[in-house]
Amino acid sequence: MINAAERKRMQRQRDKEAGITTITLRLDSQEMAMLLEGCAERRIARQPYDVTEYLIGLIRQDNKLLCKQLADLRKSSCGKCGDTLPGDPRGCCMQGDSACWQTSGYKRLMLSTL
Ligand SMILES: [Zn+2]
Repeated sequence: MINAAERKRMQRQRDKEAGITTITLRLDSQEMAMLLEGCAERRIARQPYDVTEYLIGLIRQDNKLLCKQLADLRKSSCGKCGDTLPGDPRGCCMQGDSACWQTSGYKRLMLSTL
């Protein structure tokens, strides 16, 4: 007979083989309410998204937006050092200079709700 711990171990093994990562979220009550609101209101008059489905959707939606933003940025270069935007991921050596895109342009890639 297979007990719960054994079943869990087998599930983890299958996930590992499939390249699946499980993450745990700690949300305060306001964030949890916002999550449930999103699940329901984005499927008005339908069965709400389940929490996992909704979060996966947000990740995929944001990645699509990020890729588009990066593709748009790559058409331009830094006015100071000439690097293709968004510039050196380790930080442009001119960062801090007002003419360097990374000094304030980086905000265009940040999440706007924080
Ligand atoms: Zn620069």
